[in-house]
Amino acid sequence: MTNAVHIQRSFEAWRDAARKLIALDVPPDAIAWIDDDSSSLLPELDLPDAAPSAFQVPAEFVGFSRLVACFRDPQRWALLYRMLWRLTHGEKQLLQDATDDDTHRFFAMHRKVRLDRHKMTAFVRFRAVQSEDGSEPHYIAWHRPDHFILRLTAPFFQRRFASMKWTILTPDESVTWDGTDLRFSEGVPASQAPAGDELETLWRTYYANSFNPARLNLKMMRREMPVRHWATLPETEVIDDLIREAPRRVEEMVKKQTATKCKSTGSAADFLPPRISLPQLRDAIQGCRGCDLYCNATQAVFGEGPKDASIIFVGEQPGDQEDLAGKPFVGPSGHLLDEVMEEVGIPRDEVYVTNAVKHFKFEPRGTRRIHAKPNAREMAACKPWLASEISVIKPEIVVCLGSTAAQQLLGKQFRVTKSRGEWIKTDFAPRVMATVHPSSLLRMPDHDARVQARKMFTHDLNLVAKALRKMKASA
Ligand code: SF4
Repeated sequence: MTNAVHIQRSFEAWRDAARKLIALDVPPDAIAWIDDDSSSLLPELDLPDAAPSAFQVPAEFVGFSRLVACFRDPQRWALLYRMLWRLTHGEKQLLQDATDDDTHRFFAMHRKVRLDRHKMTAFVRFRAVQSEDGSEPHYIAWHRPDHFILRLTAPFFQRRFASMKWTILTPDESVTWDGTDLRFSEGVPASQAPAGDELETLWRTYYANSFNPARLNLKMMRREMPVRHWATLPETEVIDDLIREAPRRVEEMVKKQTATKCKSTGSAADFLPPRISLPQLRDAIQGCRGCDLYCNATQAVFGEGPKDASIIFVGEQPGDQEDLAGKPFVGPSGHLLDEVMEEVGIPRDEVYVTNAVKHFKFEPRGTRRIHAKPNAREMAACKPWLASEISVIKPEIVVCLGSTAAQQLLGKQFRVTKSRGEWIKTDFAPRVMATVHPSSLLRMPDHDARVQARKMFTHDLNLVAKALRKMKASA
């Protein structure tokens, strides 16, 4: 006989129920998972209140499941439970079996939710609503995600717009940040969102300024910015003009680049502020002429995160998207890093992210800017910025992502291939570890090699998560 299990639409609710069902040895085909807002004629299964006995599943299953749980399909709960049942009943390698139907669907759902989440972080646009008493404005955005990703994505906006008060409305539910807490409430239709204000003009200007004509790729623009979202994006009004002007702007960029005469001093130390604090460093770095990299990059990209962070992740240098946005790890590598951190349980809002070199180094190739590795002179010139960030934050753990970051902090002889995942005690942090840069995973053309590399990267970050948990437990 099949019994119904009603659950609220959340990963935690599914996880609690699934743990009890596994402990009771209830097979997947004996239950029908019903969302709490749906009805069923099936008899309800009574689940005990007591906590079930523990069982082990691969750590990455939990991370992936958190995203799959957001997929807009009532069948997702049954799929998740079937996967869990199989993993705990002798099929430990299930996640590695790409030919299995369940595994295939599981990863397809995961990919779609991940993409939807990425689109939400890129396409949400806030509009300012003035309060009647003249106090600071509240910012409101309306967005229509494909999946139930609001709870998953709200912490991203909390970090990015921590000092603003804002609300994101979606048809499913809404979230408000009041400067202290995130509060979730019912969803609303688009007609109830406030319309038009000066913030839209600001977005249009920002987009026009950050639009890189040398990288004009219409196909990609349409894919990245689906027409469905255009109604809520003020900058779409300027796209036609920007496309028309692109060839002229490329020519200007090239001329400007060749005409620029770089005059650098040889060390960032000449530009450090008299008082070392994160806000002062962030201001001062925009004037840095320590090496020639300032000439062609859009701006210096300083680190980001809490000043009392226990962990600092250090990458190589800002990429193309970071250079335009002025923020570290906002491109594909950053998304991958966020994802793996979430999978292993490193709280993203307790982490400071930065780079060994603060300006984007690239080679112009046709209409593209191709990443170029900073040389020893540039790395040495830039080191005072990273050293200052570390001296202010005083982290317990530093994670070097890739060989540039590792050699910047651990010396030229250090080899990531030989010593990745090893803890090293240094003068600037009690625990330093090096692993690969997430961009190296993204560049791998071979699927199997990429899966294997991600597994190893997850393993390394798992060591970091464990060390963090141990540290907290003994604090
Ligand atoms: S890369 Fe570093 S040293 Fe060179 S100009 Fe930029 S901030 Fe200064």
